[in-house]
Amino acid sequence: MRLKTNNLEIDMLTYNEVIALRDKLANGEIGLESAQAQYWKDFKEGQKSWYTKDWKERRAKIIKDKCEICCSKETLTIQHLSHPKKYSEYLREITRAYANDYIDNNSEIDKSKFIDHVLKNYEYVPIPLCPNCMGKNPSERVRKIPKYRCADCKHEFDEAIYKSAIELISIFYEDEDAYEVRDKCFVSKDKWKNIHNLSHVRYWLQREQAKNKDAEKIGKEAFLFYLNDSIQYLSFDDTITLCKKCAFNFDINRMELCPECKQYYKGLQYPTCIQCLPEEKRKAALESIEFGNEMREMHKRLGID
Ligand SMILES: [Zn+2]
Ligand SMILES: [Zn+2]
Ligand SMILES: [Zn+2]
Repeated sequence: MRLKTNNLEIDMLTYNEVIALRDKLANGEIGLESAQAQYWKDFKEGQKSWYTKDWKERRAKIIKDKCEICCSKETLTIQHLSHPKKYSEYLREITRAYANDYIDNNSEIDKSKFIDHVLKNYEYVPIPLCPNCMGKNPSERVRKIPKYRCADCKHEFDEAIYKSAIELISIFYEDEDAYEVRDKCFVSKDKWKNIHNLSHVRYWLQREQAKNKDAEKIGKEAFLFYLNDSIQYLSFDDTITLCKKCAFNFDINRMELCPECKQYYKGLQYPTCIQCLPEEKRKAALESIEFGNEMREMHKRLGID
């Protein structure tokens, strides 16, 4: 669907088109790449769907004729109670789940492959060891000779001992909880400069393997979740109609459906909605909505918001 607004021209799928796209992807009629191309064509994540005619028309059918908190009919807006997640968030969640599954079933990595991986992708920063007790606590002394003193066995020495990366990996393959291999002494060579111990290194390698093995499946699952969120958002199912004042309040006070009337909304801190309060309390509550908004607007004007 194509429409023109003052200075914008956007192609965005309508509600029904998104549903059709989701169904085609789910039953395998189209692939992930094609679904994403159709959905994201001319569309940036977070773009405002209210530029579309479809959205405006369906919104007009959904919006109620009065505020669902205070019954006012002034400047009504629709408030969404849930917000869609980003595709990248779903992708990360599902990758993690696939990785955990993969690790449970493929915990073995060939040792020589692991050594290649570590040497290629990590900088090894070895820790100095005491030559007497092999403890990890030699303290370096600036002024005194010999240079080191072991905090554990009190031995003094000039040359600390270092284990090579390959030695550490061998120990790791014998016993992954061994004292020698717990330290985070591997720094990733990529831009993140992550500091890992050997079991972290192995986790990220396996996660990468899981991701590559099931890239298409993971992407598809994540994109289906993402499309479902968009459909939910576009459906206006999880929305309430609010006047301008209550919409202001709503953003800072979390609301839930009133247990008395199951029709109007109330702040979590109140037992019932304003409508269900006894006359006197209702007046006070309406005044406090008014007051809250005036305070906020004053704060905004004074720049202390
Ligand atoms: Zn209201
Ligand atoms: Zn020592
Ligand atoms: Zn009520």
